[in-house]
Amino acid sequence: MTSTVIVTGGAGYIGSHTTLALLQMGIDVVVLDNLSNSTTASLERAAQITGRSPVFVQGDIRDEALLNGLFEKYPIQTVLHFAGLKAVGESVNRPLAYYDNNVTGTLTLCKAMVRAGVFRLAFSSSATVYGNPAIVPIFESVTTGMPTNPYGCSKYMIEQVLQDLANADPRWSIALLRYFNPVGAHESGLIGEDPNGIPNNLLPYIAQVAVGKLPELVVFGNDYPTADGTGVRDYIHVMDLAEGHLRALEALETRTGAHVWNLGTGHGYSVFEVIRAFEAASDRPVPYRIAPRRTGDIATCYADPSKAMRELGWKAKRGLPEMMRDAWRWQQMNPNGYR
Ligand code: NAD
Ligand code: UDP
Repeated sequence: MTSTVIVTGGAGYIGSHTTLALLQMGIDVVVLDNLSNSTTASLERAAQITGRSPVFVQGDIRDEALLNGLFEKYPIQTVLHFAGLKAVGESVNRPLAYYDNNVTGTLTLCKAMVRAGVFRLAFSSSATVYGNPAIVPIFESVTTGMPTNPYGCSKYMIEQVLQDLANADPRWSIALLRYFNPVGAHESGLIGEDPNGIPNNLLPYIAQVAVGKLPELVVFGNDYPTADGTGVRDYIHVMDLAEGHLRALEALETRTGAHVWNLGTGHGYSVFEVIRAFEAASDRPVPYRIAPRRTGDIATCYADPSKAMRELGWKAKRGLPEMMRDAWRWQQMNPNGYR
């Protein structure tokens, strides 16, 4: 296992849980985050849990001089690249910000890596690169490239860039990790998802309804061609996702080229099933009303995770009840997030 890892976006939701998992493995971590969507509280809590602290550097992945300095200062062998903007709706209104932050940011990071002779990279991609899947479960080799929004396009473009890099230079070892729907929190309840303002995603929205901060959930459509008419997704516990990154880093030690792995559970749950599971975990009602479909949403999306099982020896261990229990514990212990 590599000794020093730089984690871009490491103060954010998935990055902080993965940083915690890295620290627990005894790996030294340098977190680079511009705090545009996070605070350092997540890292302080991760240090509280693990008894170890990452080095924290506040800065932007588009700052090439800063990156060059970091690669010179620390013995970095691997980069876990989480930093990026991720709000689908916002990306439609601010495409330049999304392409600049996500695509230009990744180009700058890769240039600094080449300069430093660091060629091992795991990138946070997304099931969104599959667009509206023709068949489920989705396996890695199905056609990609029809994301329905600029956020998804930025992920797709970055994947192309990274594939081209790996094709051009055999020193690269790259993991393109396509996440399905990360939810939940570390089982301590000390770190979790802390969205700004009204949440866009289902789980944080439900949690805020259950805790009384929001009056009701708005269910976007009950007329999809699914068993109960609501959208079906592959929800994955954020700690399972974090562990998937550890396995991917191990795999990259003995592989070159760019490799795509789905990180999902292989199970699809409807919005109604998630509501019921959350009500059971929290023992609170989650009032909801039905509204029209949300633009750009698809009916059903879940992973075939067997390639990650075969090649990484990784499989999600935590089921829907654990995801709901941990999301609820985090919400209850931190009704205002890290604030
Ligand atoms: P997040 O917003 O909580 O974390 C992203 C972090 O990156 C934040 O701490 C933010 O401050 C930082 N950041 C953003 N732009 C930066 C920049 N230019 N320089 C330095 N830091 C920057 O999001 P998350 O949910 O933890 O997502 C992490 C990654 O996983 C993102 O790339 C996201 O697109 C991807 N992803 C997330 C999901 C999801 O549902 N959460 C699903 C699929 C893929
Ligand atoms: N959803 C919903 N109400 C909300 C947020 C989401 O009904 O307030 C639905 C959404 O239509 C989708 C599912 O919940 O079927 C998951 O949505 P989320 O935004 O969490 O993930 P994504 O759509 O990106 O997969």
